[in-house]
Amino acid sequence: MTSPGGTIAEIDLGALCENYRLLSAESRAPCAAVVKANAYGLGVEPVAAALAQLGCREFFVATVEEGIALRPVLPDAAIAVLYGVATAEDAKLTVAHGLIPVLNSMEQLALWRDAAAGEGRALPAILHVDTGMSRLGLPLADAERIAEDAALLAGVDLRLVMSHLACSGTPDHPLNRQQLGRFRTVRQRFPKVRASFANSSGIFLGYDYHFDQTRPGAALYGINPTPDAANPMRTVVTVTSPILQIRTLTEAETVGYGATYQAPAGSRLATVGAGYADGLLRAMGNRAEAWVGGHKAPLAGVVSMDMAVLDISALPENDVRLGDRVEFFGAHMPVDVVAAKAGTIGYELLTSIGGRVKRIY
Ligand SMILES: *Cc1c(COP(=O)(O)O)cnc(C)c1O
Repeated sequence: MTSPGGTIAEIDLGALCENYRLLSAESRAPCAAVVKANAYGLGVEPVAAALAQLGCREFFVATVEEGIALRPVLPDAAIAVLYGVATAEDAKLTVAHGLIPVLNSMEQLALWRDAAAGEGRALPAILHVDTGMSRLGLPLADAERIAEDAALLAGVDLRLVMSHLACSGTPDHPLNRQQLGRFRTVRQRFPKVRASFANSSGIFLGYDYHFDQTRPGAALYGINPTPDAANPMRTVVTVTSPILQIRTLTEAETVGYGATYQAPAGSRLATVGAGYADGLLRAMGNRAEAWVGGHKAPLAGVVSMDMAVLDISALPENDVRLGDRVEFFGAHMPVDVVAAKAGTIGYELLTSIGGRVKRIY
């Protein structure tokens, strides 16, 4: 780990697989895998291939484009598209690549009926019902209408009815039970169709929430699905970057843009070759710490585009050398903890890993 060479994201596919096994063991139903946004920034091709080898048969992406890119990696798996179909062109591409749209509105359902009529055969689809997220999905009244009027599903091979939890990371939140109650009602209206409700944290709310399929994303990638308790998942992603320069201040100085960090004379500072273009957050400056030479060191000043500065004054001099790699999050610095220091969540840190960061599997 001493070779220089830019910012690296090491992705432990073995840990990913263990996390899939752990979530499968925790789930009463089979686990689909959510691999939207390039598998939360990790790289969808190696991630999806590894999960498919373990026996995962169902995958969720956000966009039709993501589904098209994934199809060659998973020739036989079910690939569902969370955005559904917005246009006839979307529907055409969805059919051509054998994707399954998650239908979120009456308009999307109508587009899919038209596509089925055009194809002269039934086309698979998922219905997404909004039970309390107020984001995407059919209002309960529309779901009711669909259940009562078979013509609305003409040519639609309904594979799954799903909904999404708003507060699953907070087990005691009353909205969880409320959404569960609403989803049970929806489910009764489609008794022959499989049902899917739980994301990563939802799995840990118990069997009531599992239905016929669970849909974890974050926990597969090592994010803690039980924020109030120890993380049951293994670390998957470790982001490191080399030290470019070390200096000892002869006088008191400030560090970085805006002069937000006061360093007294004698301070030792290490400049690291990673910035917000690589996925560090600007808000990590003066708040988060990084791991170097077996110690934690604070980020001094704001993070800039390509660099960040660590105050290593408190560390033994011989423990930190030019070219040493600094870990911003990963094995020693839990992604959730680092994210919280920057006022965000692990999801945002992972999906922010920059395009120029080399992913090593
Ligand atoms: C992103 C997403 C998931 C996965 O959620 P995690 O919290 O990452 O497990 C599941 N279902 C839907 C609808 C989503 O948008």
